[in-house]
Amino acid sequence: TTTIPLLAVRGLRAAYGKIEALKGVDVEINPGEIVALIGANGAGKSTLMMTIFGRPRARAGRIEYDGRDITGAPTHEIARMRIAQSPEGRRIFPRMSVAENLQMGADATETSEAEREAGLERVFALFPRLKERIAQRGGTLSGGEQQMLAIGRALMSRPRLLMLDEPSLGLAPLIAKQIFEAIRTLNRQDGLTVLIVEQNANHALKLANRGYVMVNGLITLAGTGAELLQRPEIRSAYLEGG
Ligand code: ATP
Repeated sequence: TTTIPLLAVRGLRAAYGKIEALKGVDVEINPGEIVALIGANGAGKSTLMMTIFGRPRARAGRIEYDGRDITGAPTHEIARMRIAQSPEGRRIFPRMSVAENLQMGADATETSEAEREAGLERVFALFPRLKERIAQRGGTLSGGEQQMLAIGRALMSRPRLLMLDEPSLGLAPLIAKQIFEAIRTLNRQDGLTVLIVEQNANHALKLANRGYVMVNGLITLAGTGAELLQRPEIRSAYLEGG
């Protein structure tokens, strides 16, 4: 038997005006997997995540979710299909409290009061720090706490697929480690499927079942996390000194 990938991206192209950011990308994510996408600045990693979310629009190729073609679907519909993202730079609402930010996540999907309560419990179990700061404004949280809030908000929409764009960016190593551990917990305990975009290739590939390397809008290498960590070209480009 073959499993249907939860997400399959085939021949995907996207551009900003004349700048071709994705030049025919193929990526598959199976249910229950953590998949890492690594690559240098400007390789197109964020654009892939955003194109899956509907903006920018795909110029060619297909995006299939759970066997269904979702290419060109508007962002709010994609959110309702229980794909969630924590975007680069976190984009939390700085003037809203932690609690209000989390409620915004639940608003992205149809969520009953009981599901909201359960969602909050789950987020606070994962990040007790957020519970302590429940009334604090998002903009006054530390970088690590803001990252927890961005992930927590995404979880409030009860995703099947969670896409994280550089969750460790700008964080102290110890805080980054906590974030990676939380992702592992979500995957192991809840079977959450995760796509993680990272500059921190070492951490990401250790966490991931499989990884893809993106260069200049194309996937140049794919393999298990362990395989990619051993590859000399990965070591020299993304691990040593970095
Ligand atoms: P980083 O790690 O630096 O975020 P990335 O791999 O995520 O890099 P993207 O942000 O997807 O790369 O960028 C891919 C290419 O598209 C780059 O050449 C970038 O300059 C360009 N690009 C991204 N966003 C826009 C935009 N809004 N308008 C024009 N060009 C853009």
